[in-house]
Amino acid sequence: MVNNFPPLIARIKQEGKCLAGGVLKVDSFVNHQLDPDFLMLMAEEFNHRFVPQSYDKIITIEASGIAHAVMLGYLTNKKVVFAKKKKPSTMDQSHMLTTEVYSFTKNITQHICLSREFIRAGERVLFIDDFLANGKAAQGILDLVQQAQATLVGMGFIIEKSFQDGGKNLRQQQIHVESLASIASLDNNTITLAQ
Ligand code: 5GP
Repeated sequence: MVNNFPPLIARIKQEGKCLAGGVLKVDSFVNHQLDPDFLMLMAEEFNHRFVPQSYDKIITIEASGIAHAVMLGYLTNKKVVFAKKKKPSTMDQSHMLTTEVYSFTKNITQHICLSREFIRAGERVLFIDDFLANGKAAQGILDLVQQAQATLVGMGFIIEKSFQDGGKNLRQQQIHVESLASIASLDNNTITLAQ
């Protein structure tokens, strides 16, 4: 169900720019410059939508998801773990979980990884990220969470582009997906919201 968060919609309308290939640029408050007061407002909204007692930890993926996840982690006093896009030389190989993710904006396939030390079997985790497009990052996270034998309790996105298939696919898997803004189209250089 579409549940647009009015303060975010106002900012997207004011500051968002449509780029070629169905990409929305929101560098002034999501992907480059960050506005902590506004991030906290969005974290509070996520906190209304996902009962904090239902999850133990927050998971995200570097880089743009981290700030959003940390705000919610601060608010709920929960640890935040981010999947890494490069295998760190310091990570104990026996703890490392990996999967492949195709990046829509970069047009490349990347390995993402997570240490078993930080997501443990039986833990309940909430995934937070900036954008939901084709859902490849989200599927990769789901794969890592399952490899860790943890439970995914939901996925929260700042912006969902509902003209791409990610949201539909995740909801078909009975995943609780919440998006603070749903965009139906970026055609003709116009941001059209989903209703
Ligand atoms: P997905 O895996 O759902 O196809 O894409 C999600 C990732 O791609 C997000 O984490 C985000 O980094 C990036 N992304 C997808 N669409 C957009 C977009 O329209 N604008 C921006 N700035 N990033 C996007």
